[in-house]
Amino acid sequence: MVKRQIILAPQALLPSKDDPQAATIEIDLSLGTIISIKEGIIPPLQEEDVEIIKIEDDKIVLPGLIDTHVHLNQPGRTEWEGFQTGTLAAISGGVTTLIDMPLNSIPPTTTLKGLEIKRKEALKIGINSDLGFWGGIIPGNQGELVNMLNNGVKGFKCFLIDSGVEEFPHVEEEDLIKACEALKGTNALILFHAELDDSNPCIPTSTKNENSHSHSHNHSSSSSSQSSYSKFLESRPEEFELKALKLIIKFTKLYPELNFHIVHLSSSNAIPLIKKAKFSENIKNLTIETCFHYLCLSSELILNDDFKTEFKCCPPIRSELNRKRLIENLLEDSSKNEKNENIINYIVSDHSPCIPELKKGNFLESWGGISSLGLGLSLLFNEIGNKIKLGKLINFLSINQAKQVNLKNKGELKIGNQADFIIFNPNVKWTVTTESLLFKNKISPYIGKTLKGRVEKTYLAGQLVWDYEKGIDGAVLSQGRLL
Ligand SMILES: [Zn+2]
Repeated sequence: MVKRQIILAPQALLPSKDDPQAATIEIDLSLGTIISIKEGIIPPLQEEDVEIIKIEDDKIVLPGLIDTHVHLNQPGRTEWEGFQTGTLAAISGGVTTLIDMPLNSIPPTTTLKGLEIKRKEALKIGINSDLGFWGGIIPGNQGELVNMLNNGVKGFKCFLIDSGVEEFPHVEEEDLIKACEALKGTNALILFHAELDDSNPCIPTSTKNENSHSHSHNHSSSSSSQSSYSKFLESRPEEFELKALKLIIKFTKLYPELNFHIVHLSSSNAIPLIKKAKFSENIKNLTIETCFHYLCLSSELILNDDFKTEFKCCPPIRSELNRKRLIENLLEDSSKNEKNENIINYIVSDHSPCIPELKKGNFLESWGGISSLGLGLSLLFNEIGNKIKLGKLINFLSINQAKQVNLKNKGELKIGNQADFIIFNPNVKWTVTTESLLFKNKISPYIGKTLKGRVEKTYLAGQLVWDYEKGIDGAVLSQGRLL
């Protein structure tokens, strides 16, 4: 039986390096971990019990990617997405670790029981990538939080605005205080859907728009000649994000031992505020993520088409100028030397699918959520790959997220780490088609888009689980583990 695997890589991205270099990586297959890394290509002296993998000159070995923001929706809304399809889409794009959001499944992960139900279901169905879970904070569940934390959730997500699903109500400031008090003495991480609409506090958000869905609520009253996208944009202004940010900064100071995180930052106007908090006020317990769609899409692509609802998400896709500013910030940060000084700490998919029926209608009516699981690296590499060092780009998709959720043996090609790695072809151009999408409902704003760079092979704990050449039939399924 083959016990070891040796990767002879003309180009491999090693920890803290900006550029790939030649390396020989040895893996113990019984442990699924990396046991040695040597610079240069050094073929083994004896070849018994060893599988040798020679990587072609133009391909790059990268660490397995991590996506800490996905909605897999199982159980309860499995027709929207599921553990099998979601994690298959993940490995097809080199993502070896997912962290699942606490809402859109039924029950949501807001109780220890809900967490156990999800775990059981995932084990029963089988998962194709490794998978962890976020818990959720909703009004009144503060008594569950420490229990969930002790049982392995990576932190807690809450909404400051209507979430769109009734089983996951948003929190008010007093609910947050109760949650933070309950978590005192831990260093728990609290994630915010950071849009805050305090313009009409007397009207419960649920009655403002009967048709609202997650990430989709709106209450615009503008003229009917406007396109539905501009009405939708007006209903979710940047001020919502700025107001939420101010509240969250207040909490970072009230509870310095807890950690606070803003999911899917969309507004570039928030950057000066975050800069001030992180650098002038020296706030250390605040992190920020943005999504592929805010870096790759802009409202100019949508404005006159009322039915391009595959672009709908909350906070919304904003202007091209906004998109450019977010990218500028990423590039600026990536040229710095010191670690942990970034405004945006990492980039996620926020893969949030639904069934086609819910994407029907115009922007005011349809479900908000963009599907892109598996496309992330190609999207980002295609967009900024020629402007940023590969090592810096990959940090956003791997180590920075591993650190955030405390995965000590993931995120880098390092001795002792789980042997999650991918073979990336940076030169190939390919077009996203419905067939190339492996998540359940093939609705995505990227269909038809040509991208440069593709993940060709994905290894999970040393095992080849995805080979682009072989497609779905060649995928080795259900090799993922719960984290
Ligand atoms: Zn989300």
